[in-house]
Amino acid sequence: MTFSAASTISKIASTRPSIGVRSQYGAGLAKAIQGVGTRSRAVNCAATVTGAIGKKPRVAVTAPPSVETAATGSKRRPAWDLKGQLSDMKVQLGNMKTRMSEYTSKLEVSEVHSKLLQENVHQRDKQLEIASSQIEELQGNLKAMELLLKNREVELEKCRAENSAMQGVLENKLKLRETELAQKVACIEEQQSTIASLHGVIADCEERLHLTEQERRRLHNTVQELKGNIRVICRVRPVLNSEKEACSEIEHVQFSHDDDKVISLTKKEESHTGRDRKEEVKYDFSFDHVFQPMAKQRDVFEDISQLVQSALDGYNVCIFAYGQTGSGKTFTMEGPDDMTPENMGMIPRAVDQIFATAEKLKTMGWTYKFTASFLEIYNETLRDLLVTKPEKNVEYEIKRLNNKSEQLHVTNLKYVTVTAEDQVHNLIAIAKAKRSVAKTAANDRSSRSHSVFQLMIEGSNSNRDLQCTSTLSLVDLAGSERLDKSHSKGDRLREAQAINTSLSCLGHVIMSLSNKESHIPYRNSKLTYLLQNSLGGNSKTLMFVNVSPLEENFSESLNSLRFASKVNECVIGTAQLNRK
Ligand code: ADP
Ligand code: MG
Repeated sequence: MTFSAASTISKIASTRPSIGVRSQYGAGLAKAIQGVGTRSRAVNCAATVTGAIGKKPRVAVTAPPSVETAATGSKRRPAWDLKGQLSDMKVQLGNMKTRMSEYTSKLEVSEVHSKLLQENVHQRDKQLEIASSQIEELQGNLKAMELLLKNREVELEKCRAENSAMQGVLENKLKLRETELAQKVACIEEQQSTIASLHGVIADCEERLHLTEQERRRLHNTVQELKGNIRVICRVRPVLNSEKEACSEIEHVQFSHDDDKVISLTKKEESHTGRDRKEEVKYDFSFDHVFQPMAKQRDVFEDISQLVQSALDGYNVCIFAYGQTGSGKTFTMEGPDDMTPENMGMIPRAVDQIFATAEKLKTMGWTYKFTASFLEIYNETLRDLLVTKPEKNVEYEIKRLNNKSEQLHVTNLKYVTVTAEDQVHNLIAIAKAKRSVAKTAANDRSSRSHSVFQLMIEGSNSNRDLQCTSTLSLVDLAGSERLDKSHSKGDRLREAQAINTSLSCLGHVIMSLSNKESHIPYRNSKLTYLLQNSLGGNSKTLMFVNVSPLEENFSESLNSLRFASKVNECVIGTAQLNRK
């Protein structure tokens, strides 16, 4: 901003009315002269005063007639004419008086004039004083303004310098950013082209992965087939602390040091030749795997995890636990009551693996739906283990889903869609609680009933328009011990017969499948009917034979091992993939 000192001064000046002093003065002078005029009316005097300063007031005075012309009016008087001369002199005197009075009045006017002029001068002086003080003030102002202006200019200069410096910095920064941006753009372009080429590589890899996965499934299946369709795993449980007093060492059960597939039971028997000598009789068995008492749940699961994988690949899988009561079936399948991650059984482990593998298969375009059910078969009747408060007279019937479908389902049974392993762990806990209630209420009914956990798996691969459905069944069979029929009556007898029936039915079904008979007697028991699709043709079966380490259980152990080894000999055809 600039401003001029001159204009400031003119502004200040315009606020002081100095003209007024002059006009006032002009009017006063005129008045004074008028006053003089009145006093000397005889004087022919006219004074004109103008309002303008600097112009002298003009006073016009008429000249008196000359002495000669006034005194004589004609000729000079002779010396003797004293009278005439006196009269002339009188006239002259009169004239002089007039003139005197004229001069006096003139003098008066002059005095007034002079007084007025003095006043005027005085006023002028005052005005001058005011004006000069004003000028001084204005000059002071001007100086201050000039100083201010100078300061402002300095500031402005500083600002300009800063501004230009700033501009320089900004320009540099901008340039830097521009180069950076250009570099980034180039980098992005490069990355985009890399991405594009990687997309190609990924598509290629995906295709190869898919083919590899298909190949893996095929090979996995071949391996399973080579292992035989019904595999049998033997597990001998440890001697429990509560049993240690009676039995500290297991002598009648022998394992091989270098072969984890064999187990022998030995017993001293009366010799045919002499009564005193006892002969040791040895019963050898071989299975797909024999687990010794110290084997951990984790080790056992390792052996069946391949089979669990098959369930996700679209095969029906059925895993049984067979053995007498107290041999460790429930421990193997579910785990003990005080379950920890270390001691949890095959069912929770299988479920965990299935969820984990399903998650991995997501990257290959597979999505899965899981539905779980848990039931019990006691005396040929079905009971839902997931319903805590069952309604009365609910009928559980095994039926085909519809006329066209091979798939079986149980009417009124609770089928729970599960999305996470924890959910399944909860279901297992509910079923366990329900079974243990029954245990006390009906003299350990749980040992005389089969419990069946089923997980329906529906997988689909939208990328390749593939679907597969399968069922994973994990069965904790009723105790295989033979009841002493001669002492059993009523309910107990019926129970014994029912167990016998269903377990021997299971044996018959497996044998018939192995013998490739045209009729397979699935319908002879609820258990075999329910597991129809998971036994034979389209499925993979595994049996745990659980064995007690106690010598008192020798004959039951021998029976179990004999049954299991018969099953182990069965080859029941090639499993087919449930794929559309
Ligand atoms: P079953 O279901 O065949 O009747 P359980 O699974 O109930 O037999 O086992 C009987 C007892 O032995 C239970 O107390 C169980 O905890 C224990 N048990 C079974 N197997 C093992 C094992 N491998 N390790 C430790 N304890 C076991
Ligand atoms: Mg049990």
